[in-house]
Amino acid sequence: MLRALLCKLNLRHDWHEEHTEDGGRYKRCTRCGRDDDRGGGGTGAGGAWAGPAGMG
Ligand SMILES: [Zn+2]
Repeated sequence: MLRALLCKLNLRHDWHEEHTEDGGRYKRCTRCGRDDDRGGGGTGAGGAWAGPAGMG
């Protein structure tokens, strides 16, 4: 299937929110089972923090 190909090429995943045993939340692809390693409020790994203009 085409979507499976998107997964295989790591182009697009069908993220579904899952819950860990300790109450955490993460996203997992329902098609290929890949975990979203981009984080979702965990330890900041230096992501692209594009907050609103609050500098001043
Ligand atoms: Zn996937």
